[in-house]
Amino acid sequence: IIRIKDISKRFGKQQVLDKLTLDIEKNTMTSITGASGSGKTTLLNILGTLEKADEGQIMVDGSDITGFDKKAVCEYRNRMIGFVFQAFYLEPAFDVYRNIEVPLLIRNDKEDHKRRIEEMLSAVGLESKIHAKVHNLSGGEQQRVCIARALISKPKILLCDEPCGNLDSVNSSNIVKLLRKQTENGTTVIMVTHSHEDAECSDRIVTLCDGRIVDDEGMR
Ligand code: ATP
Repeated sequence: IIRIKDISKRFGKQQVLDKLTLDIEKNTMTSITGASGSGKTTLLNILGTLEKADEGQIMVDGSDITGFDKKAVCEYRNRMIGFVFQAFYLEPAFDVYRNIEVPLLIRNDKEDHKRRIEEMLSAVGLESKIHAKVHNLSGGEQQRVCIARALISKPKILLCDEPCGNLDSVNSSNIVKLLRKQTENGTTVIMVTHSHEDAECSDRIVTLCDGRIVDDEGMR
């Protein structure tokens, strides 16, 4: 689903990604690991069109996203991409329902919101928390709300940046399993992580060092 070819990115004098080439298959889970500063988040952000590469090409589902104009970028993000971040970026004053509804409101999606939100909450095991305020939820529960919010737009690709960064090992393991499960529902999952334990749940672990791939290991 994704073909990354010779992507480079500099910030000032620093070469953060250096002619990086990587293909990612549909409906798989890939973990991106590597030392701090190796370019993991930058790669994820370029895939999500939050940053632009200086050079190289990225084909997603047959389209060259590096050549997209503003309108195409918006459509790509809405239609193809879901984001899950370490810092949950939930609206603390809203309840769980409202937080998950936000993407539907932004997209002016006319489908039955209540039914979709209930479905999503059941998928992440939070049916009973539908009207809880998110600031009363545990970290693991908040991250599950984020995953439900990311999945409500039915993205083909889920980009996760240290999704377990704020969680203990039991919660991390549950979140990683939940992410992995999404590959069975037609979602391709890419997760940046420091944790080898979390990465081992994936189909593949790609390790970066100084903006290059130094290891690429298929797990299954
Ligand atoms: P970490 O594991 O610590 O999050 P990472 O592998 O995700 O690291 P990146 O966040 O991709 O690394 O950053 C790679 C390098 O690029 C770092 O040295 C960082 O300081 C630098 N960098 C990232 N974003 C910017 C920016 N917007 N402006 C300047 N430098 C940046």
